[in-house]
Amino acid sequence: MKRTLLCLCLSFASVFSVADEGFNTVKTPQFDVPEIGGGVGFIDQQKERAIGEKVFRQVQHQLPIIHDPWLEDQFMSVFSRILSQTQLGEPIGLVLVRDAQINAFAVPGGLFALNSGMVTSSRNMDEIAGVMGHEIAHVTQRHYSRSQEAFKGQGLLALAGILVGAALATQADGDIGGAVMMGTQAALMDRQLSYSRNQEREADRIGMQFMYGAGYNPESMADFFETMHRATSRLSYLPDFWFTHPLTTERMSESRLRTQQFPRVQTGQNVPEFDIIKWYTAVLSNQANERELQVLAANQNYAGIVALSEFYYRQGDYALAQQQLDRAKKINAQHNLIALIQTDIYLGQNKLDDAEQSIVSRQRIVPENRALSYKLAEVYIRQNKYSEAERLVNRFVRKNDRDISGWLLLQQAANLDRDNPMRTVNVLRHRAEVQYWSGDEDNAIRSLIHAQRLAKGNNAMSAKVELRLKQMQDERKLKI
Ligand SMILES: [Zn+2]
Repeated sequence: MKRTLLCLCLSFASVFSVADEGFNTVKTPQFDVPEIGGGVGFIDQQKERAIGEKVFRQVQHQLPIIHDPWLEDQFMSVFSRILSQTQLGEPIGLVLVRDAQINAFAVPGGLFALNSGMVTSSRNMDEIAGVMGHEIAHVTQRHYSRSQEAFKGQGLLALAGILVGAALATQADGDIGGAVMMGTQAALMDRQLSYSRNQEREADRIGMQFMYGAGYNPESMADFFETMHRATSRLSYLPDFWFTHPLTTERMSESRLRTQQFPRVQTGQNVPEFDIIKWYTAVLSNQANERELQVLAANQNYAGIVALSEFYYRQGDYALAQQQLDRAKKINAQHNLIALIQTDIYLGQNKLDDAEQSIVSRQRIVPENRALSYKLAEVYIRQNKYSEAERLVNRFVRKNDRDISGWLLLQQAANLDRDNPMRTVNVLRHRAEVQYWSGDEDNAIRSLIHAQRLAKGNNAMSAKVELRLKQMQDERKLKI
């Protein structure tokens, strides 16, 4: 047991081999997993940042991620609000994992990952804020590095479990026997991956302070625990949230009692708005079926109508998508999601002028909105107006260089700039960023080496490419 534990502390790879011992039929997953450095006692903020970024790339690479700027920004704003209550500094990012299991984790350095199942199981944004507060508290309290055997990577261990699950899922090919086995496997890992009772208590207490400080209702944390305690576990390849954060009745009553120490707070965001987020998430993660959405829509439920429109859009049925969107517009035409879906429907039908009209006026009202700006950039790219697209996207990518959606748009725009002698170099540079932040470090470096060759003779460009190449090569070497 002790050996097992020690092994787990050293690297993700060790987690895999330990998990493997019980089941010889399961092959050890072969993929690149970051090592958690053994015996490191002190990690400075810079190192944590590098860990967070490395994990960000790893997560993008290993897990099914939902890339939707509108949805990302809804949760990112909650994450930023809660982070502002801590000393943790600027966030690295928030990733949405397409998985029905209830799960979420925070990583040192400012990364948060949220499963779609967590969103679809919540009743309001405050419940999600409660889970975020709890997870972030594990990070601020350094529950991952506090124990005697130096740096254990405890915060990352939950992630290791998730990556193991994802790797096994690919191997099991969705057969039931595999799924059951994985459940057992997850249970096996349970003890190594979970936080201690005291750490849980501390994360509940401090997490509640964070969420309250950020303006969310502490009672929602207690509510969520109680709802989840009753919820049955969904079939998934990934270990459940409660594996890593054991939920006891004692913990539930303590958290309910603790809410009484706080002044009453209104639930932060209105529930109808959260319902829109929730059902939209359900459609994007394939967690909602047509019948279910039709029932909601038949009851004039706005969130249901919008989600049904998106559902039909994703099926390529633009007529039905438009029909539902028109119904939604009669209730409220001002929601940003209406403009975004409308633009997608027009783009799908190749009606480029209509697409531009449906998004441009809205984007001008809130130019700081990333989702609206990116959708307009998408329209501009289709219209061959690449410099307009670049201008829109650059503003956001300059602020956040991990923005994969932004880099992808910049790559497409650069490709249209046919008269530019540096066209291919620019395409390669932007593609390198897409690859890099998607966790494909090797191909990113290859793209830049290619760009470097083509940039010869242009000193300014050469220097730029070289600098970035060196950064990527250094960061690839990083063992965390
Ligand atoms: Zn916990």
